[in-house]
Amino acid sequence: MPGGPRDLSADQLGAILTEIGEEMSEREDRGRVASYIPELAGVDPARFGMALALPDGQVLSTGDAAVGFSIQSVSKVFALAIALGRLGDQLWDRVGREPSGNPFNSILQLEHENGIPRNPFINAGAIVVTDAILTGHPPKALLGEILDFIRDAAGDENIHINEAVARSETETGHLNMALAHFIAAHGNLRNPVEMVLGAYFHQCAIEMSCVQLARAGRFLIAAPGAPRIVSLARVRRINALMLTCGHYDASGDFAYRVGLPGKSGVGGGILAVAPGRAAIAVWSPGLNARGNSALGSEAMEMLAKRTGWSVFG
Ligand code: GLU
Repeated sequence: MPGGPRDLSADQLGAILTEIGEEMSEREDRGRVASYIPELAGVDPARFGMALALPDGQVLSTGDAAVGFSIQSVSKVFALAIALGRLGDQLWDRVGREPSGNPFNSILQLEHENGIPRNPFINAGAIVVTDAILTGHPPKALLGEILDFIRDAAGDENIHINEAVARSETETGHLNMALAHFIAAHGNLRNPVEMVLGAYFHQCAIEMSCVQLARAGRFLIAAPGAPRIVSLARVRRINALMLTCGHYDASGDFAYRVGLPGKSGVGGGILAVAPGRAAIAVWSPGLNARGNSALGSEAMEMLAKRTGWSVFG
């Protein structure tokens, strides 16, 4: 059924998800679970879940869609939405809007570009975003605000930070510490490095299920019935950044294969948006060589093909 976008009933969408879940359960090569954050290393690679939320909040799902996982860099979407709400276009004085073409934790460009990270979805850029929204707020209050934003968007109070994951990254996150100190040396951090990283690691350690994440992503669908918690103009911009920068140095490949804005995290989650139609979350902890969920990326491609959904027509 390839071709243009199709108006599919909830039953048809549910059947597509079930098919994808069945095909994925048979896969033997499931990628490698991230181990540089020790607390994530023990997650079972056999897990696979997928959920699709329609604008009205109806959710269809398959597999381990109700199991919580570490959303990691998917949190950068919510932090960016808050930052744009608070700072507006001033944010762009401190972080760029171009794809990096580099791995998520690369320090190379920062040196050439004087501590101004390429975009808000690589680690360096997300650290600057967290610093920007931390100013004037104790870290606890900021984390409360990020959690409230996500809980409101999902319509679900039962979303929390996994302290063990945050601690694990705090103890081992030397690359992020290096990035933050480098940015600070260039005068692009306003708060103490330890405080910014503490907030950043905790934001990454938010735990959600695919069902919760798909529901939380509905504000990006921009369709009647979906929550309107940021303006339509801002939704378009966040989606543009997800499309161009949401999968690090595989962003072009994800746009080519899936054709939808998406943001991945090293916990194996991906949030994608089919504007006007649905928000989709997938989780499978094994990563491919670029650090994106191996089965999750494939599942998104299958969904896009079978629904005909694409932002490119
Ligand atoms: N907390 C992770 C890190 O900073 C997030 C990376 C990711 O999910 O891509 O390394």
